Amino acid sequence: MTTGAPAAPLQTFAVTARPDQGPPRLARLRAALERAGLAGFLVPRADAHQGEYVAPRDDRLAWLTGFTGSAGLAVVLADAAGLFVDGRYRVQARAETAAAAFSVLDWPQVRPGAWIAAALPEGGRIGYDPWLHTEDELARLKEAAGDVPLALVAIENPVDPLWPDQPPPPAGPVRRHPEALAGESSPAKRARLARGLAAAGQRAAVLTLPDSIAWLLNLRGADVARNPVVHAFAILHDDARITLFIAAAKLGDDPGALLDASVEVRAPAAFAAALARLEGPVRLDPRTAPVAVAAALRAAGVAIVPGDDPCLLPKARKNAAELDGMRAAQLRDGAAMAAFLAWLEETAPEGGLTEIDVVTALEGFRRATGCLLDLAFETIAGAGPNGAIVHYRVTEATNRRITPGDLVLVDSGAQYLDGTTDVTRTLATGPVPAAAAAAFTRVLKGMIALSRARWPQGLAGRDLDPLARQHLWRAGQDYDHGTGHGVGAALSVHEGPARISRLGEVALEPGMILSNEPGYYREGAFGIRTENLLAVIEAPALADADDRPMLAFETLTFVPIDRRLILPDLLGPGERAWLDAYHAEVRTRITPRVAPAVGAWLERATAPVAGDRRA
Ligand code: ZN
Ligand code: ZN
Repeated sequence: MTTGAPAAPLQTFAVTARPDQGPPRLARLRAALERAGLAGFLVPRADAHQGEYVAPRDDRLAWLTGFTGSAGLAVVLADAAGLFVDGRYRVQARAETAAAAFSVLDWPQVRPGAWIAAALPEGGRIGYDPWLHTEDELARLKEAAGDVPLALVAIENPVDPLWPDQPPPPAGPVRRHPEALAGESSPAKRARLARGLAAAGQRAAVLTLPDSIAWLLNLRGADVARNPVVHAFAILHDDARITLFIAAAKLGDDPGALLDASVEVRAPAAFAAALARLEGPVRLDPRTAPVAVAAALRAAGVAIVPGDDPCLLPKARKNAAELDGMRAAQLRDGAAMAAFLAWLEETAPEGGLTEIDVVTALEGFRRATGCLLDLAFETIAGAGPNGAIVHYRVTEATNRRITPGDLVLVDSGAQYLDGTTDVTRTLATGPVPAAAAAAFTRVLKGMIALSRARWPQGLAGRDLDPLARQHLWRAGQDYDHGTGHGVGAALSVHEGPARISRLGEVALEPGMILSNEPGYYREGAFGIRTENLLAVIEAPALADADDRPMLAFETLTFVPIDRRLILPDLLGPGERAWLDAYHAEVRTRITPRVAPAVGAWLERATAPVAGDRRA
């Protein structure tokens, strides 16, 4: 399955933020707002599809403020500008923006609605681009404003006319996702979903999420980095017809080769008018659909039923073909990871390696598979204290030389034709401090507990989350992120609706793929995270005929866990057995896929830990 790796390096390290550009741009935006009679404007880090990555054209927040993180909101008022970022981006936002122009505010501790209510002059109206916000988001904004009624006005985006070299909308070529990998034809998926709409008395559903549309039509695209999705909108009718609103250029010369004859293709410009002609009730997801879509429906008197995007759950429940593809992708990726880890173990103790060297080398090992389409996200490689920055992304400005003895946290993933990968390993590069080894082992115990869990049908991710934290809690430790996120099958590495976290309320179902990634971070010293991907399965029956049906996880990721960081005495017999069996499976599955030298390294790296005690 050779696809030819991309020609240019995927991950780059240049510092693109220019804090000095913010103030003059902010001044021009304020002048435009004043001319329009507005007291303010919202600039989110979002596009019309609410994805984690945006096309360069949609990165208005970075253009205006300099801030390049993946989540944020600027509220521009006449004499104040607040840049709302969450905890992971506070340091970065301050470094990338001009302090005199933008106040970096803690989100969600400071709520944008409350901040606006306190700063807005009486009677002031705030503009927003209705394609970049959801109804839920605006409702939260108004709710946080308390007694102050927020006058929010939908306007044409005033940033675009101020941005002379704004890139054009993305026009990545669309490709067909082979049915052998999708496991179900697009007409069959549409018929299945349409039956659900008809049963609920809904005439149509509007789809605005690119990964939903990619899944439903068995298409993949290249409109945004790291996600093989297509920017498009779609209307699915209750008789299984579908109308796709997409720039024709993306479909190439032969759209018929990509789409079956029952897909009606229209230009994106026709979307709003088509919404107005719908007969209701129409299902629309208020958490992800742009306000503009709801407004177009309402203006035409079309009844809206708020409800989940109908693709969300079916897409999350992977079928047998998707699971096979994901297994194959993890094995291919596991071989690349083994070659990388063998290289790192040999090279790092010599000193001289930097974080950028690590990222570049790992990308090279993945390219060498001949199957790499893209990274699944920017590789996180944090040495020493940088490992404690949870969403650290190395640049030329932050690049750290690895001092032998640093822990190195490497969180990375790839997009292949058949699947998406996401794996984290924390590596020793020299002598390991006792506190780090103890924390590493506690994180591992939690990761093993989740991997081995059996639970009754109906539990949600929030019910399982403490399994991964229990050993850290006992030691007075914890981590400030979820334990796991859903993962798409050759789609987005972060996929809803299920997750393993305090916020995970969706019941886990067979076929769902989730990450298992507990961690521990000591600011200024080191970071630890170990991550495998898991698939939810029906648990194998126990010998006792009385046992209830249970769910369990199948581990998909096969990459050695650094035994140099484990304190075997902290592991119980069951944990030790799990780890040894896991490593034996890594050895069996990966050795045939790697060069003999890497195989020899694997042999050592996957030896039983139980033996360490006797030695
Ligand atoms: Zn990861
Ligand atoms: Zn992950």
